[in-house]
Amino acid sequence: SKLPADPVIANTRRQVKEACFSFVLPKKTKSPSLVHVSKEMAETLGISEKDASTKEFLNIITGNTVFPNTRPFAMCYGGHQFGHWAGQLGDGRAINLTEIEHNNKTWMLQLKGAGETPYSRTADGLAVLRSSIREYLCSEAMYHLGVPTTRALSLSLTGDQVLRDMMYDGNSAYEKGAIVSRVAESFLRFGNYEIFAARNDVKNLKTLVDYTITHHFPKLGIPSKEGYIAFFKEVANKTLDMIIHWQRVGFVHGVMNTDNMSILGLTIDYGPYGWLEGFDFGWTPNTTDSQHKRYRYGNQPNIGLWNLYQLANALYPLVEEAKPLEAILESYKIDFEHRSLEMMRAKLGLMMKDKSDLSLIQELEDVLQGTETDMTIFFRNLSKFQKNNATQITIIKDAFYEEKLSDAMVTKWTNWLDAYKERLQIESISDTERQTNMNLVNPKYVLRNYMAQLAIDDANQGNYGLIEEFYQLLKKPYDEQPEYDEWFAKRPEWARTKVGCSM
Ligand code: AMP
Ligand code: MG
Ligand code: MG
Repeated sequence: SKLPADPVIANTRRQVKEACFSFVLPKKTKSPSLVHVSKEMAETLGISEKDASTKEFLNIITGNTVFPNTRPFAMCYGGHQFGHWAGQLGDGRAINLTEIEHNNKTWMLQLKGAGETPYSRTADGLAVLRSSIREYLCSEAMYHLGVPTTRALSLSLTGDQVLRDMMYDGNSAYEKGAIVSRVAESFLRFGNYEIFAARNDVKNLKTLVDYTITHHFPKLGIPSKEGYIAFFKEVANKTLDMIIHWQRVGFVHGVMNTDNMSILGLTIDYGPYGWLEGFDFGWTPNTTDSQHKRYRYGNQPNIGLWNLYQLANALYPLVEEAKPLEAILESYKIDFEHRSLEMMRAKLGLMMKDKSDLSLIQELEDVLQGTETDMTIFFRNLSKFQKNNATQITIIKDAFYEEKLSDAMVTKWTNWLDAYKERLQIESISDTERQTNMNLVNPKYVLRNYMAQLAIDDANQGNYGLIEEFYQLLKKPYDEQPEYDEWFAKRPEWARTKVGCSM
């Protein structure tokens, strides 16, 4: 089952009907140069270190050479943006090069920022170094955190200058053009299915769903009505799993539009994402969403569900029955409550289940938000708690952004720590075992927003040392790595509001 291609072969902007993709050619760049290669990703693809250092490799991953017998293409998709149907979107600055097969796995290799496609609308199809560093470092960091994600193979400069509007002063400026080559089993999004449903093109909708099941969900067997329902259930489960991981590590995606929702439940399209510093359900890194905060940390699970509703609507013409789809959406809510509780128990090192756990967790979330408390440092340091010692507020004090807590907050924390200590008495494992368990789910190192900014500032000066340092550090986010302890620290004051949105 091959997917229908757009018969027009050109990079010019247009509405593309009855096709899943358009053949395009990447733009030639002026003087490409390599900034970084992910050794892990290269190995996974069967690319040796020697291959990755050739001129040919550089030319391929910057779009200057098309690999023999391959045909680059851009996908057609639509999407709901900030709650509203936005029509055709598509790969406006992403170009798929080819599939790579290695060790019985097939990967799609895609360039981000390689020039215009039919889907570029009013934009240029390019990417700048700033946003490319953010995607490159964060997607690999997420992978090593155990969060389902698209990956990155390489980060390169194009040698071209790219004009960008500056968010903060309304002026435009030239920035260094860059290309990330990224990798995933598939880059299909909810929006790939929505676009056909929106155009009442059931024939091609079915072709695409059948293709997806055959290639990416083969255990569902030959596509059928039951198979479509089972497919939706799989997507719902994978989406929930991804979001539970985001909540666990404190990742806020920032633009959970349905065109940014992977059908495989992978974190995709790293734009204005951010990491929680102070634990806050209301926080969003996306400055264009600062009024409604639709995509705030605490709302990500609900948005996952909202997006699944849109996918259910898109699949409806193939199922022609609302009930089974509704049942899956209902069970998402129940599964979320269940999995969220399990995730928080793990973060607290609770192996047993007790009926008081939910209220213990809710009280913690209140007290965490009562004073600005660094999420990563808090959970990491809480693992040092000893269940038979006097209350130990000192072990978590490094997580507080305030110099000195109010007496009321000290009381609240003391009460919570007392309740936690009492709860730990029913556990049979030792303090050391609990610490080991907690340190497997509470990372010590994440790509803090200001760290990405420091790497960007350096790279703009031509220094790539921090990119390499963070890349190495974030390969082992759960390990102690005391040599990197300067990155196990609260956000410095200068970085409070300055960094975040980066497109
Ligand atoms: P995003 O919100 O970044 O996921 O992008 C939404 C849509 O805009 C997608 O169709 C993107 O391909 C497109 N887009 C974003 N940035 C650019 C760009 N610089 N050039 C062309 N299209 C873009
Ligand atoms: Mg996108
Ligand atoms: Mg984007």
